[in-house]
Amino acid sequence: MAKKFACGDIVSGCGWSTTANDENELFQKISEHAKNDHNMTSIPNEIIQKVKSKIQEA
Ligand SMILES: [Zn+2]
Repeated sequence: MAKKFACGDIVSGCGWSTTANDENELFQKISEHAKNDHNMTSIPNEIIQKVKSKIQEA
């Protein structure tokens, strides 16, 4: 089942969103976005939990 995530659900004002075929692929895309656009070299566990709670079926 495909997954989708909208960054604006946890970072107010961010318009980025993505879809992927599974959660691993989704997290790869999210970490790349976090690094490039939010200057996060690694994603804190707290954020990972928030992201997981916002992942939706695409
Ligand atoms: Zn973002």
